[in-house]
Amino acid sequence: MARAWHLKSRPSGMPTNDNFELKDVELPELADGQLRVRNRWLSVDPYMRGRMNDVKSYVPAFQVGEPMDGGAVGEVVDSKAEGFQAGDLVQHMSGWRDEAVVAARTAQKLPDLGAPPERFLGVLGVTGITAYFGLLDAARAKEGDIVFVSAAAGAVGSVVVQVAKAKGMKVIASAGGAEKCDFVRSLGVDEVIDYKSQPILKGLAAAAPDGIDVYFDNVGGDHLDAALALARNNARFAICGMIEGYNTGQPTSLRFAMRIISARIAIKGFIVFDYFPRMAEFYAEMAPWMANGTVKSRETIVDGLENTADAFLGLFEGANTGKMLVRL
Ligand code: NDP
Repeated sequence: MARAWHLKSRPSGMPTNDNFELKDVELPELADGQLRVRNRWLSVDPYMRGRMNDVKSYVPAFQVGEPMDGGAVGEVVDSKAEGFQAGDLVQHMSGWRDEAVVAARTAQKLPDLGAPPERFLGVLGVTGITAYFGLLDAARAKEGDIVFVSAAAGAVGSVVVQVAKAKGMKVIASAGGAEKCDFVRSLGVDEVIDYKSQPILKGLAAAAPDGIDVYFDNVGGDHLDAALALARNNARFAICGMIEGYNTGQPTSLRFAMRIISARIAIKGFIVFDYFPRMAEFYAEMAPWMANGTVKSRETIVDGLENTADAFLGLFEGANTGKMLVRL
């Protein structure tokens, strides 16, 4: 019998363990074109908080009483699909469970890049693609730019810092707490602000006396406000995430919105899916960076399917450094 996490009830505000339930599920017989996959690694991500609400968005909402899903890497244990056989490692979207029957057309075999499988849920997966294209395409960041990135000790943020340094940018980062700031420093950042020890606006004003050309937003709220306040003329903002508002549903930014006009700021939201067709371009640059140590991967690993909800909740309390993963 497989086990899968189900949405038990919709949260209001910060979710709790009571909103989730781990239940047995009967897996169907394998049909043509399907794979049975035993998951080894599960991804938990901040965007899943939005899926707990009953709203229409770019990914469907989780349904009360139904299994949840998300990114996962697993091993094929049985296949009725051409091109897949037992033992293959695949990436797919039937996460939040230990075993799944997956349509082969929705699964991808992990490319042979000499990297461990879990990396395809992090630096070599959605995390890395988000960081890479968000910075270089959505924000159009280029050599010599002064870049500010928030949640820089997290999965996406820590990759943004490293890509920006590899591309010759000056990088100012923010993270919560001294330990996380030390980690961000170890990635080669030029300045790091501990937003828990001082207001981010004050910290950014001191760290960027000449202002910023680019802001990579993972947080929203007072971080976005500070970036607006310090933006130079023609600054470019990539709005990747606003985790500060995910639990309240009410982002608190835009105190300095009028600077968008006076400083001619270009603000671009983006969704990582838009960049999936450019995966080959991403691998061509990221795989050598990983191999030669230009980009390093950091993960926070939680063991056991039964701890998946805790791992997810930890994202909103800063429990992770680098990518939060569940190992089965
Ligand atoms: P992270 O690994 O960065 O984890 C979340 C981190 O956010 C925490 O560790 C914490 O770090 C920080 N955080 C949590 N609550 C707050 C708060 N109230 N104020 C400030 N910081 C907070 O997650 P990801 O790297 O996976 O995602 C980063 C952002 O990118 C998220 O907003 C996510 O939704 C977004 N995203 C968007 C995508 C897109 O397609 N647009 C794709 C992937 C991610 P600390 O301890 O430093 O506070």
